Amino acid sequence: MKVITTIKEMQTEIKQQKSEGKSIGFVPTMGYLHEGHLTLIKQARQENDIVVLSIFVNPLQFGPTEDFSTYPRDFERDRALAECEHVDYIFYPTVNEMYPTEPSVKVIVQARTDVLCGKSRPGHFDGVATVVSKLFHIVMPTRAYFGKKDAQQVAVIEGLVSDLNFPLDVVAVEIVREEDGLAKSSRNVNLLPEEREQAVVLYKSLQEAKKAIDQGEQNPHSLIILMKEMITSNSSGVVDYAEIYSYPQLKPLEKLEGRIIIALAVKFTKVRLIDNLILDIE
Ligand code: AMP
Repeated sequence: MKVITTIKEMQTEIKQQKSEGKSIGFVPTMGYLHEGHLTLIKQARQENDIVVLSIFVNPLQFGPTEDFSTYPRDFERDRALAECEHVDYIFYPTVNEMYPTEPSVKVIVQARTDVLCGKSRPGHFDGVATVVSKLFHIVMPTRAYFGKKDAQQVAVIEGLVSDLNFPLDVVAVEIVREEDGLAKSSRNVNLLPEEREQAVVLYKSLQEAKKAIDQGEQNPHSLIILMKEMITSNSSGVVDYAEIYSYPQLKPLEKLEGRIIIALAVKFTKVRLIDNLILDIE
């Protein structure tokens, strides 16, 4: 496994691999790897000749009051985990390598961002789309792997790849959870101990909503009230949003039909958690 820190060297290596006919699987991350990331890496390993993992905490996608400085980082641990998963290259650039000058161009996302995290975190998806576009030009992947934990991100990246004609396939991977159901996240380490216990309420309220749908509930507003009540009465978390939309279009629904997403964001003391459930309604 090689650790590469410069764009030029990464591109040279990839061009060499491609000239030998190798397929490239790419897993972009912000590091502090957990089982969710490792599941993406394992799938990329199975489906490609070469696996590239990027680790880059992208300042462009954090708002001024968000957790860029406290986002957990541990490169040596990540390197050991990547080695165990037989990653071929870790691309690990500095902020200065990625953004050496004041950017003259950024990618603005026009659709699928007026709700959920796009609404709560203005500019977040422009930052994601900009860095992912750069990473796609640097790594030139055959397939790029993203987790459904960030389902809105998957919808945005699919739009990016289609609109800007990136020659690659986007592969969306199921959410990996802790034993109690909490979606794995690098940010979970920033939960206080009592918040960690309460945090399972996100998953539980999604399951309650599903149960109500299975029992015939068709009104999205009733489901939202049910989930909000469950979260506020079982945790100290503050609901940032609890919403239901069509997926991947992310349009409001008066009645549940087709593919839908039930999505939650809840703020705890030092960390904001997200989770979602995508369902096909008959
Ligand atoms: P991050 O490092 O948080 O930016 O995540 C990098 C990639 O891993 C993104 O595509 C995430 O959606 C994915 N990911 C993070 N957590 C999980 C999880 N619990 N299950 C599946 N994928 C995940």
